[in-house]
Amino acid sequence: MSYTYDLVLQNGTINDPANHLYGRFDLAVKDGKVAEIAPTISAELARDRVDVTGLNVLPGVVDLHMHASAWLGGRFAHKMMALAGVTTALDMSGPIDSVLDIARDYGCGLNIACINYVRPGDTVADTDPSKAQLEDLLAANLKAGAIGFKILGGHYPLTPEATAAAIDVAIDNGAYLAFHAGTLETRSDIGGFMEAIDITANRNIHLAHINSYCRGRVRDCQNEAEQAISKLKENPNIVSESYLSPVNGTSGECKNGMVQSQVTVMCLEARRYETSEQGLEQAIRDGWAQVNREVGGVVILSTGQSAVDYWRARNTDTTISFAVNPEMPRLRLATARREDSSFVVDCISTDGGGIPRNVTVEKGLALVRLEAMTIDDFALKASYHPARILGLGDKGHLGIGADADITVVDLKSLRPVMTFCCGKTVMYRGRVFERGSTMITSPAGQKNVESKGLRSLVVDSQATPFCTLR
Ligand SMILES: [Zn+2]
Repeated sequence: MSYTYDLVLQNGTINDPANHLYGRFDLAVKDGKVAEIAPTISAELARDRVDVTGLNVLPGVVDLHMHASAWLGGRFAHKMMALAGVTTALDMSGPIDSVLDIARDYGCGLNIACINYVRPGDTVADTDPSKAQLEDLLAANLKAGAIGFKILGGHYPLTPEATAAAIDVAIDNGAYLAFHAGTLETRSDIGGFMEAIDITANRNIHLAHINSYCRGRVRDCQNEAEQAISKLKENPNIVSESYLSPVNGTSGECKNGMVQSQVTVMCLEARRYETSEQGLEQAIRDGWAQVNREVGGVVILSTGQSAVDYWRARNTDTTISFAVNPEMPRLRLATARREDSSFVVDCISTDGGGIPRNVTVEKGLALVRLEAMTIDDFALKASYHPARILGLGDKGHLGIGADADITVVDLKSLRPVMTFCCGKTVMYRGRVFERGSTMITSPAGQKNVESKGLRSLVVDSQATPFCTLR
């Protein structure tokens, strides 16, 4: 016999702020879409039934900042995100080819988008690429399946002029543009943040991980957070995210005895280590630098001699984390509001993926428990806003006909309990069930994505432009 519905979630509390739906309802799924929400839906109508009594049913968590490439994050990113309750995520650096390979070989049923880095000596020749070079790079990135550029200024700076050109090239071509603040004239701090907003010149961009510019490098960290908040209020064209983990994630790569990433350099300076390969080795041994280490299908943070050995065995090319994020800017940036009561920082992200800090649900729900925000506020920041920034009209809410991407959470344990992507069970009580990935891509990238054996979800940035929320 045929059933009316594929799945019904019974007795949950639904929190769908975009549709002003709050309360105890049953939710039915058919063909991957939300088909009905009603006080009672008979289980007899559905092929599958899950009782979610006592749990909250939210639109699937969308992580607007994560890493899932061989360069950063690595192959277990998908599983780690699935376990953390994420259903859709944006890889914020690429390289796109590696993101696609990992999505195919290690995918767990999630929806993944990727923006590719503009990196001197790698994707562009030097720190001052011409507009024509940037046009060529963007065209190649889009064709490969990425949806835009990531400017990695804080790690691998460009000149301010080339940074502005990269922003123009991406936006003029309808591509996504995210910026980790910093140029050859500033660094990854509040000074770089202020410069980034000036360079952006009222265009609609995504400014990455606001908390990372408020680590107390220039002034007191709380003072820096207040400055960031007032500047964001004055510049509604900027969409942004901040994350809730104490640890960052950066590159441990050394060449000719020197640390390559400027962020790693700054983290070593913060504890007065030498900014050389020797200094980094000592910091790992002492526990200040934590090597991201693959163990048992996930990534953990590791220190001491065994971590040094692991880092050496990989020719220093591992991700390294430092506990550089003070608590007050994290809390303040997550909860600060504009005069109209909307959030100053639009999304809670993780900058995680394969970097072990996918704590949006556990730490975001802790803010709900503290009454620093409501569960509906959490659904806005962790799902609806990031979905809209990515131009995904069918995600981030649970309206009839929306994609059945769902994260079910337990407000008592502060944990994700189960997730569904287009109605398929991705994670259930700590086990991951799905395989493969759906790549969110542009019309130019669809062919390459599908040729890799990946499903495609094509976004039309003409109809729903990226990075517009206000
Ligand atoms: Zn990142």
